[in-house]
Amino acid sequence: MCPTNTKLRSDQCGDVLMRLSAFIDGDLEDCCCDELAAHLESCPECARKRAEMEGLIELCKGVAEKPEVPELSSSFRERLRKTLCLETED
Ligand SMILES: [Zn+2]
Repeated sequence: MCPTNTKLRSDQCGDVLMRLSAFIDGDLEDCCCDELAAHLESCPECARKRAEMEGLIELCKGVAEKPEVPELSSSFRERLRKTLCLETED
């Protein structure tokens, strides 16, 4: 184990994690994309983070795509307002 390598890798990890959401969204330039993809293949830690993030994004998309159910939504809003103590509007 070379300490320099370890440091370099962890530095890279920080960089990778910062760009991960853009990478998943496809917002990253191609050159960075390749770099990131290569790192993700060699770094299980970042690969795991990516899977986690993708799971979260899928989850958010799923929730956003569900049609709103009026009764549910109004009681949910009421509950939310009570929880947040935001009973300003009526
Ligand atoms: Zn990494």
